[in-house]
Amino acid sequence: MKPLIAGNWKMNGSLAANEALVKAMLDGLGSQTPGADMALCVPAPYLAQLQSLVSGSAISLGAQDVSAHEQGAFTGEVSATMLKDFACRYVIVGHSERRQYQGETDLLVADKAKAALAQGITPIVCVGETLAERDAGQTEAVVKRQLAAVIHAVAHCTSEIVVAYEPVWAIGTGKTASPEQAQQVHAVLRAQLAAATQHPERVHILYGGSMNAANAASLLAQPDIDGGLIGGASLKSADFLQIVASAL
Ligand code: PEP
Repeated sequence: MKPLIAGNWKMNGSLAANEALVKAMLDGLGSQTPGADMALCVPAPYLAQLQSLVSGSAISLGAQDVSAHEQGAFTGEVSATMLKDFACRYVIVGHSERRQYQGETDLLVADKAKAALAQGITPIVCVGETLAERDAGQTEAVVKRQLAAVIHAVAHCTSEIVVAYEPVWAIGTGKTASPEQAQQVHAVLRAQLAAATQHPERVHILYGGSMNAANAASLLAQPDIDGGLIGGASLKSADFLQIVASAL
């Protein structure tokens, strides 16, 4: 299984900046086939632009959120069918920023994962503990609870999800989980997947949280770390490509 390196641009970008960034990434890749699958999860208004920029390239398109509903009176929401119209292959669900600022619950995140799968879009399900939870020794319980909600909702489709372990205290802070700390949690998640699907090894478990060009190789060398979800460093072409190269 090839590793997956997915960028999360968060609420950053402009038509001009996106074009320059993606062109720099594609120039950097040249004609080589990267050793990792690559994706960029971009703000919804830029999906059409990105669809055209990455068309025919090694980079897949992803969104950062999806509605749990199929259609209707849900002002401001974007459905999985709409994402499919722009050839989205991935969508992030349950990012800690949405759990924190939009009050998204485990149940809602699970419904979003289900809605994405129903349209053939792979949900990148984010789980992770806060610093207070880690300090209280609750890391395992928290990530297992978050993943259990999704497994319960998607049932026999569990092997089709991507999981991203993102300790909240490491996101955008410059503090990275050590490779050992991350591997320990990834192993717990793999065991949980093993109880739910016959092919737990087919599920990418990504690490996210201040992963960068300097620390990517040691994190990606861990047996249960199958790629990365990259925030800040995905806004710099050289750094993102360096992370992709580290996944070889
Ligand atoms: C993220 O937003 O998913 C993330 C991991 O951010 P950063 O890499 O900037 O910590």
